[in-house]
Amino acid sequence: MSSVEVKYELTRDDLMCSTCYNDIQFPLFQCQKNQHFHCKVCALIEKKCLECGSSIRRNKGLERQLEDQLEECPFEGCYRSFFPWHLKEHKTKCEFKENECPVCFEKTSLGFMEEHITRECKFSKYLDVEGESGSFDLLKRFQESTMTIDISDLDNYN
Ligand SMILES: [Zn+2]
Ligand SMILES: [Zn+2]
Ligand SMILES: [Zn+2]
Ligand SMILES: [Zn+2]
Repeated sequence: MSSVEVKYELTRDDLMCSTCYNDIQFPLFQCQKNQHFHCKVCALIEKKCLECGSSIRRNKGLERQLEDQLEECPFEGCYRSFFPWHLKEHKTKCEFKENECPVCFEKTSLGFMEEHITRECKFSKYLDVEGESGSFDLLKRFQESTMTIDISDLDNYN
C-alpha cells in the first residue's frame, strides 16, 4: 500500500476552506473523517469541522505531496512559497518586492522603503526640514501607492 505513489492534483477549487470559503495555504488543515479542508484561521477557531463534526488536524503527509506544486516568491530575501494562484497576489504586496523610491527613483525593496525615505534618500534632507511631517507625508503617500510624486513638490520643503 505504501509503495503506491498517489499523485494529488488538487486545484484551487479543491483547496478552499469549507467554513469561510477562502483559499487555503500551507499549513494544510483537514478534518479527520472526511478530509474537508480548513484554513488556518478557521482550524484554530473551530477545532472541529462544521460540516461533519470530526476534529481538525494538520495534514503533513498531504503537505509533502503538494509541496512541488508550490512556487517560491522570486524576490530576494522572501523565501516563502505559495500555490501558483497565491503567488501572483503575494507578489503585489511582498515586502521584498523591488520598488522605486518615489522621490529619487533608486530601487529598494518595499520592506526597506521606510528606512530609505527617512534616512538614505538623497532628498531626505529636504524632507527633514519640516521635522517629521515632511517625510511622514511622503511616506504616507507612498504607502497609499501614489508612486509618482511631482519633484516640484520638493519646493515646499526648501
Ligand atoms: Zn476558513
Ligand atoms: Zn469534515
Ligand atoms: Zn515574497
Ligand atoms: Zn530616495
